Amino acid sequence: MQLSPGSFLSRYDWIIVGAGYTGAVLAERIASQLDRKVLIVDRRDHIAGNAHDRPGAHGILVHKYGPHIFHTNSDKVWTYLSQFTGWRPYEHRVLGSIDGRLVPIPFNLDSLEALFAPAEAASLAGLLVDTYGLEKNVPILKMRESGGRLKDLADFIYAKVFENYTLKQWSLRPEELDASVSARVPVRISRDGRYFQDVHQAMPDAGYTKMFERILDHPNIAIATGTDYKSVAGQADRIVFTGPIDEFFDYQFGPLPYRSLRFEVFEKDVAEAQPVGTVNYPNDHAYTRITEFKHLTGQQAPGTVLVEEYPQAHAPGANEPYYPIPTPGTAELLKPYQAAARSLEGKVWFAGRLGDYAYYNMDQACARALALFEKQIAHAR
Ligand SMILES: Cc1cc2nc3c(=O)[nH]c(=O)nc-3n(C[C@H](O)[C@H](O)[C@H](O)COP(=O)(O)OP(=O)(O)OC[C@H]3O[C@@H](n4cnc5c(N)ncnc54)[C@H](O)[C@@H]3O)c2cc1C
Repeated sequence: MQLSPGSFLSRYDWIIVGAGYTGAVLAERIASQLDRKVLIVDRRDHIAGNAHDRPGAHGILVHKYGPHIFHTNSDKVWTYLSQFTGWRPYEHRVLGSIDGRLVPIPFNLDSLEALFAPAEAASLAGLLVDTYGLEKNVPILKMRESGGRLKDLADFIYAKVFENYTLKQWSLRPEELDASVSARVPVRISRDGRYFQDVHQAMPDAGYTKMFERILDHPNIAIATGTDYKSVAGQADRIVFTGPIDEFFDYQFGPLPYRSLRFEVFEKDVAEAQPVGTVNYPNDHAYTRITEFKHLTGQQAPGTVLVEEYPQAHAPGANEPYYPIPTPGTAELLKPYQAAARSLEGKVWFAGRLGDYAYYNMDQACARALALFEKQIAHAR
């Protein structure tokens, strides 16, 4: 049930702050499994959090907060979400614009062949296979620890694919970030041109927002969009908070660093503007990548809609805190907030990308919510 602002019932059993994956999944679990009344609020004027999509030009679904591609190795998450959506099989492909060519990203044996003369490419491919084995994924920072020709190749890939892209994306060098960040896009000793290798890769067949409408369609759930937590804080004894943990505590231990983005959505009067869903521009332009939504949604239309992503510094209140910045330093800054969260145990639960201050994919946010429900919230009645 969608409420108009200010028309809340006086009391709920639970208030859930944030209607993204974390909040919506927990609202659904509490409403359906515990039979408790839930008020879910989001200060944005819509549900689905960062996964929100809505029709743009030609009816093409546009992801308001940047392209979201669903992929998971978790059968549990897949089965859970499949209650609320059908799926369109979709394997995301990314090309990188490097030295005037479009080559597969993650960098693989085909990328090697596109950028080196045939004999050199064959010799380097042999070296990679002999060193790491066929079908292996190698983090670039690991590969740079090698010596000789392999180190030269690693330095080449680092310079062409990783260094400038990471500087643009994070304003940090790859080695200043947690190693898990660059390991997300490894060097592939194979010809697998898919961006992800997860068992389940698909898009919700009617879009993310429709899937969220179904997740939240329960008589025990009231939805109030355009509503900040502060205006409903006293209306339940139990709260799940999926907004920024530093904001909840009024930044008393200092603001946590986030990276923000600006999205530039534009149309083109052609049926297809680029050969794959996303083209990365590591070394040119102020944007990092361009995504053409049609590839993701499978929609047919005479025109097309694309988005450029411009990374930028986050300023609280001025733009959105999109990515927690994973460095050893930020892990330290988080600790006092985690201690403050523990002091509210049994009353307020923090979870999600902003509540946990963790760089989650959608499936990880969903898995975290399901685990939090099973391990803690189900026993908090
Ligand atoms: C550009 C970009 C691309 C991404 N692409 C992918 C992808 O391809 N695949 C993938 O798996 N993941 C992707 N992700 C990650 C994905 O967005 C997150 O995993 C997911 O959004 C996490 O869900 P959440 O519920 O934790 O947070 P969110 O979706 O951010 O939801 C939190 C909600 O809380 C609300 N809120 C915060 N504070 C308050 C308050 N005080 N009062 C009321 N409401 C509040 C916010 O408005 C927000 O809607 C991407 C992220 C970004 C930024």
